[in-house]
Amino acid sequence: MRTGDNGYIKELNYKLILDTIRTKGAISRADLARVTGLTRSTCSVTCERMIKQGIIIETGKVDSTGGRPPILLQINNRAGAVLGLKMMDDQILGAAIDLGGNIIQQNSMLMERDLPSEPYLLRFEEFISSILDMQRKDFPFIPILGMGIGLGGRISSDGVLLDSSVLGWRMVPLRARLEKRFNLPVHIENDVNTFAIGEKFFGAGRDYDTFLCLSVGEGTGLGIIINGMLYDGSHHGAGEIGHTRITFDPQAPRCTCGKQGCLEVFTSDRAMVEAYHAATGTTVTIDRLINLATASDEVALRVFARAGMYLGTALSTLVNLFDPQAIIIGGERTNAAAFFLPELQKHLEENCVYNLAKEVTLTVLQPSNDDWIRGVAALAIREFFSTNTLWRE
Ligand SMILES: [Zn+2]
Repeated sequence: MRTGDNGYIKELNYKLILDTIRTKGAISRADLARVTGLTRSTCSVTCERMIKQGIIIETGKVDSTGGRPPILLQINNRAGAVLGLKMMDDQILGAAIDLGGNIIQQNSMLMERDLPSEPYLLRFEEFISSILDMQRKDFPFIPILGMGIGLGGRISSDGVLLDSSVLGWRMVPLRARLEKRFNLPVHIENDVNTFAIGEKFFGAGRDYDTFLCLSVGEGTGLGIIINGMLYDGSHHGAGEIGHTRITFDPQAPRCTCGKQGCLEVFTSDRAMVEAYHAATGTTVTIDRLINLATASDEVALRVFARAGMYLGTALSTLVNLFDPQAIIIGGERTNAAAFFLPELQKHLEENCVYNLAKEVTLTVLQPSNDDWIRGVAALAIREFFSTNTLWRE
């Protein structure tokens, strides 16, 4: 740490106060001083500056026993907005989201599967333009600060899509292209990682420093937050839990990645409908499989229970490795959690050392596209709050 540098200390104080107001919600100046450990005068002077900048606002008063009730401070959510965009092989989701994570506008567009990058990106750019136009027309007083994009694939730190098995592309310089086209800061991240960042920023991970986000649905993915930061590995490839080998059974199906016995061959939507077909000869969709399980169809129940067993076993390995405070399960297939969660919990508890599983808070989210979009937006909002330009203004 640099010492004797007054500007640097002011910068640290500014960031600490802003971060505290953002994470604690409405807070009085006195509580702010208590929580941050800074003097009341430092808090007051810094907050006055933030109020002048329009970043925070004074809000309602709390109940107080006697004396003058304190005025609370909170983030001015409408001080800016970001675009959150999710690129998938069959559709694009997008929304303008304010600094508090509230969706202001949203839209989606269906895409043909297996499009090469160029025609896909031309349509993607049109889609972004349409949301920007809508936002500028309806809310001209809320400036757009940047955009966050999530997709299934490996993304370099300078925003190059290295490879994506979902979209079937390699080496696409996405960030450079979109920043040039829209003249806005663009942040791109693997979609499961954006899910984890979003939960840390706005959701069930707010109160945890070290937690794991498991996504279930078309694929099985993992986002890792360690000491408050996303961990994505040395080559941006961390979290590929779906492609870790979970069995040496020679009968185990071959995975889309080309290997055999991966976790995903038991836990993905496709794997489960194929397992049902193999056992009964009947072709079903994943929604039909859930309906069958709801109607107590034994084979359907067994397919979900087996997925739960493998998920719980895989999670127990992760708990042994990371000793997290919490595991958050999200993704579309949480709508079938009733059928896989009991086995998941059982195998998670049985296979952890030191009874660590008992210390882990397990949260299952309701399936919602809004969570994905908020997570992607959090990428850009996080940048806005941590940027140096704010405190220097
Ligand atoms: Zn695999």
